[in-house]
Amino acid sequence: MLDFGMTIGGRQVAGQDRFAVLNPASGEVVGNVTNATIDDLDQAVSAAKDAYPAWSALPDAERQKAIGALAATLEARAGELAELLTRENGKPLGGIGSHFELGGAVAWTGYTAGLEMPVKVLQDNDEGRVELHRKSLGVVGSILPWNWPVIIAIWHIMPALRAGNTVVVKPSPFTPLSTMLAVQIMNEILPAGVLNIITSDDQGPSIGAAMAQHPDIRKIVFTGSTATGEKVMQGAATTMKRLTLELGGNDAGIILPDVDPKAIAEGLFWGAFINTGQTCAAMKRMYVHEDIHDAVVEEFVNFSKNMKTGNGMDEGVMMGPLTTPFQHEKVAGLVEAAAKDGTVRLGGKSLGGQFHETTIVTDLADDHPLVTEEQFGPTIPILRFHDVEDALERANASDSGLGGSIWTNDMDKAKSLALRMECGSVWINKHGALQPNAPFGGVKKSGIGVEHGDEGLMEMTDIQVILQ
Ligand code: NAD
Repeated sequence: MLDFGMTIGGRQVAGQDRFAVLNPASGEVVGNVTNATIDDLDQAVSAAKDAYPAWSALPDAERQKAIGALAATLEARAGELAELLTRENGKPLGGIGSHFELGGAVAWTGYTAGLEMPVKVLQDNDEGRVELHRKSLGVVGSILPWNWPVIIAIWHIMPALRAGNTVVVKPSPFTPLSTMLAVQIMNEILPAGVLNIITSDDQGPSIGAAMAQHPDIRKIVFTGSTATGEKVMQGAATTMKRLTLELGGNDAGIILPDVDPKAIAEGLFWGAFINTGQTCAAMKRMYVHEDIHDAVVEEFVNFSKNMKTGNGMDEGVMMGPLTTPFQHEKVAGLVEAAAKDGTVRLGGKSLGGQFHETTIVTDLADDHPLVTEEQFGPTIPILRFHDVEDALERANASDSGLGGSIWTNDMDKAKSLALRMECGSVWINKHGALQPNAPFGGVKKSGIGVEHGDEGLMEMTDIQVILQ
């Protein structure tokens, strides 16, 4: 069993109070970690604050080199990190699981290392010269969810470091270990205090809430539920912190009548059920044209029923357990209600422990909770439409606006519909695929700001304009 300390100022800090991290597939204890106090948080912030002047003063090329070295060391340790990730989160080791997540983490790190932050000359003529500079902020606080604990940590940490900030990370109490190991590995390269991590079980005084209010943290990058995001925003108000909030989604996919149902079945499966459906930008509502509704349901069910659910360590498993007991309870409750009001085409039952059958439901009303709420699990409602305008209106009738997708062979139609979807990303003939050069973020209650690419990097900076 692992016993991890927090990394503060380059040292391992064990702390008095500990809590256990459980394997969601077996209930076994994977490791013990520290339950941080507010004093621990203050120490982590002060270590990051002390490390900031030297780190931010490095020439850009030096920070780029350091982040390139982080990519190499994470790649070398990816196997170890992936196993730990599966043990605490439950996702399959193979398939689109832990190795996939680590591969993405390494690729994102390498890509971020290469980003440039040039001075922009806005005017240079007889009347004067105006330059726009991008300046680092100071200490950035990163608050993480449990669904993709390594790659989302990388999305927070790398642009923050690249821009010259120092960082304090707080992982989810359900999945702190893989993030902690990644931070330990990165601390073998980074100067002490540049990257710190603290852990909390969320049962006592909220470390996340204290981060949002902390006077020495200049920015919070938060990924998690919309409800907690609202609290972060309130907490950040008095210090006027910069915020990037990546929150919940209820992504719609719209499937037009010209597609081949068999050809899109695999894409629909991964679009909806990547990470056992516990993905912010997974498809969570599927609107299918009435002409092909039954054929799409049949092909989607046929593909999905062959994707094995089980312990992520076992060969051939594609769907793991729900990562938290609460998430399992939520999914089971939504499916139970949907079974009463609609038609279950696949699955429908809990498999015991935190496992749930992959469940596909049709014939639900638009106001059913499985349609209106973020299920965040291995179940999806399929809804029939007659007119694409109606489908678009129903897709947009949500407080969330993270992603969406259009499935058709007609690219012109796809793009014109995409532009009318109220969400931050629209995929055509796929759903949820993120890439390091494409800014990603939500509209409406799915968040504020973006991550990735130049635009994501710039969110880790303030603008300063010099006018002469
Ligand atoms: P959560 O909101 O319960 O927890 C997220 C983090 O916030 C955890 O580290 C938690 O300890 C911390 N926290 C708890 N109370 C806090 C407070 N008062 N102030 C500050 N921090 C606090 O979310 P979760 O259940 O871990 O993650 C699932 C949710 O995250 C889903 O809604 C999902 O859609 C969303 N998500 C969004 C994205 C995205 O990029 N938009 C990505 C992944 C997950």
